[in-house]
Amino acid sequence: MTPSEALPLGATIGILGGGQLGRMSAMAAARLGYRCHIYAPEADSPAMQVSAAATIAGYEDVAALQRFAAEVDVVTYEFENVPAATLAALAGRVPCRPGPRALAICQDRIAEKQFLAEAGVPVAPWRAVHSLAELTAALAEIGLPAVLKTTRLGYDGRGQAVLRTAGDAAEAFARLSPKPLILEAFVPFTAEISAIAARGLDGAVASYDAVENRHRHHILDLSFAPARLPAAAALAARENVARVAVALELVGIVALEMFLLGDGSLLGNEIAPRPHNSGHWTMDACACGQFEQHIRAVAGLPLGPVTRHADAVMRNLVGPEGLAAWPALVARTDVVAHWYGKGEAKPGRKLGHANRLLALGTLAALDDVSACDGL
Ligand code: AMP
Repeated sequence: MTPSEALPLGATIGILGGGQLGRMSAMAAARLGYRCHIYAPEADSPAMQVSAAATIAGYEDVAALQRFAAEVDVVTYEFENVPAATLAALAGRVPCRPGPRALAICQDRIAEKQFLAEAGVPVAPWRAVHSLAELTAALAEIGLPAVLKTTRLGYDGRGQAVLRTAGDAAEAFARLSPKPLILEAFVPFTAEISAIAARGLDGAVASYDAVENRHRHHILDLSFAPARLPAAAALAARENVARVAVALELVGIVALEMFLLGDGSLLGNEIAPRPHNSGHWTMDACACGQFEQHIRAVAGLPLGPVTRHADAVMRNLVGPEGLAAWPALVARTDVVAHWYGKGEAKPGRKLGHANRLLALGTLAALDDVSACDGL
């Protein structure tokens, strides 16, 4: 890469989306000498509070999008469900990183599964389902239990149903249709893990250590970094996400959620072409965290070092309980606490997170990482 490909100091990065991922990206961008312009429908969003400029407009507002494109040097996203029309309004006017192909693949579970398999990442058996008859046929092939999911716009366990008996099929189909659906074999995983990779404008790829994720009420609660995995699985997790970054021809950051099976093998589940909640630990336990890495890639800078200098436990601060936990966490000297500046502490709302830092090797030496559950 020639230096001229990197955004000059003082250039403006446009971010679609105003949530915490945009906020932390904008804070990382400021540290590297860039300004951010946030585009989101809501005023006073977490990202706008820390950015130089904001456009408050809908994602379908073509005129506002075109004005935004004229005011920024590059566009990135903090969520993957950016409407195709939004991209069309921006494309050709300003570089979009990641580009439309990566987004299209990650917006659709069927495209995602096909892509993962082609990229060499194994996935659980699956079938596309458009009717109750197709669901019955798919269940006969895949067996029970199985998971029925909407192919688009599902997150945090929404838009899915676990089928335990053949009798569950009709009700689940009625609830989730007429949206296009996918039936997946239920994976008897021993742990849920994820890994994150960045790919720069120059094609360089760097991946972080894989982490183990635990959920509460379908929302990420804790990430343990590093995941306690056999060495081969730890390597495979990083290789998998690096393969995804390369096959997506990504410029930016990508997270791959995976299931760990009893035999140490991994199955790919979901891809997010953006900074990811399970990567928040990198902000404080790595030389260059995921948000800085994302900005580096998008700005055409060389990627930073992914070296982990501590073990970490990341806890999400969610809803009223998260708010109540804040005073004690922000007072601790072994915790780095992050608050997102959201208004009301509604149940289920991610308000902040806390990274507890531990000496390297601490998690591997514990009999049970649950000892760190309370942080
Ligand atoms: P997803 O929206 O695909 O990330 O799914 C949300 C959660 O549902 C995952 O984190 C898993 O705990 C569970 N889940 C999803 N798909 C499967 C599957 N095929 N087998 C077992 N559990 C699953």
